[in-house]
Amino acid sequence: MADMGTLKLLVLPGDGVGVEVIPAAIKVLQVCAAKYSLSLEIHQELVGGISIKTHGVGLRDSVLEQARSSDAVLLGCVGGPEWEEEAPARRPERALLTLRKELGLFANLRPIYAWPALEDSSPLKRSVVKGTDILFFRELTGGIYFAQPKHRDKDRAVDTELYTRQEIDRIARLAFQAAKRRRKKVTSVDKSNILETSKLWRDVVTEVHQEYTDVVLEHRLVDSFAMQLMTTPSTFDVVLTNNMFGDILTDEAAVIAGSLGMLPSASLGSRSALYEPVHGTAPDIAGRGIANPIASIACITMLFEYTLNNTTAASGIQRAIGAALDHGHRTADLHPTGRPASTEEMTEAILQSLRSQN
Ligand code: NAD
Repeated sequence: MADMGTLKLLVLPGDGVGVEVIPAAIKVLQVCAAKYSLSLEIHQELVGGISIKTHGVGLRDSVLEQARSSDAVLLGCVGGPEWEEEAPARRPERALLTLRKELGLFANLRPIYAWPALEDSSPLKRSVVKGTDILFFRELTGGIYFAQPKHRDKDRAVDTELYTRQEIDRIARLAFQAAKRRRKKVTSVDKSNILETSKLWRDVVTEVHQEYTDVVLEHRLVDSFAMQLMTTPSTFDVVLTNNMFGDILTDEAAVIAGSLGMLPSASLGSRSALYEPVHGTAPDIAGRGIANPIASIACITMLFEYTLNNTTAASGIQRAIGAALDHGHRTADLHPTGRPASTEEMTEAILQSLRSQN
């Protein structure tokens, strides 16, 4: 982790709207850096489709090395229609999977926040989404997506769900630590009435909880939790899940925020951190300067919180985004009643709110 002196950041805007929204995030980072006497050492590189075009591969070894020696990586998004017909190994998305794996990023954090100004943007009722502020911790490197054996023949296929005590322990710790700084509640999601891995999950989470007794721990079965997430989302604080349940539940929860363009994420390992918006390259709007920059700007909020441990700066950015929305600024994806703001106008509104904070 970097101290507040210098932040060594690798920036990988990637493809499509990535090259439009990541510069917005960098502007916000620069304003905050000046305010908190943080010096920035920023290196920018190609990743994904643009790297395939330029260098023949989606992620060069030298870029991976730079990622390893940086305090954090800020990534836009990769892919697009041009590469859709390619075999999986040649697709830009492979670069991202390699990067996450090589950096050992085992915890994926996704905040789901119902911005007061956008409570009507969700397909759910305002009364349901109001006050929702959830932080998901999804285990990212274990479980059924990776464990062996994995096998397929004509009439039979096998995937293996496998978790070790150590894999569960390390992500549970991060979740409890985050809950301590928030509303002090962890909801651990499993299927322990059926699955052995879930029984171990529940036991280990309960054991780790002994060290965080000021945090309330509740266990939920994944099936009923999926329903509660849509009926009473505001009752949850930190939600802790395995890889597959987290994959499904975080997409389900995204409806609460109203637009993909609002959702940031962080992936943490023991040494590295990767911050990226949840959305993809949005080929339908790329190149027009109308993409919503908030997901990427909110990645800077997470960077201040998790890499720099500066919650004051993080909440300043959060308040600046909220103020821009409260003043009525809306990019096209947020269904404005009047003329939609461009990426640049939305960014400028957030920068102005940020600069006006004392
Ligand atoms: P997408 O997230 O790119 O777009 C889905 C919809 O959301 C589109 O209508 C798009 O216009 C809108 N949207 C997304 N981001 C937005 C933003 N910042 N502002 C306003 N609107 C926004 O998903 P898709 O269309 O399924 O995928 C397009 C490409 O992106 C594919 O090649 C896919 O593989 C890739 N992808 C990459 C990542 C990543 O790099 N992490 C994630 C998802 C998809």
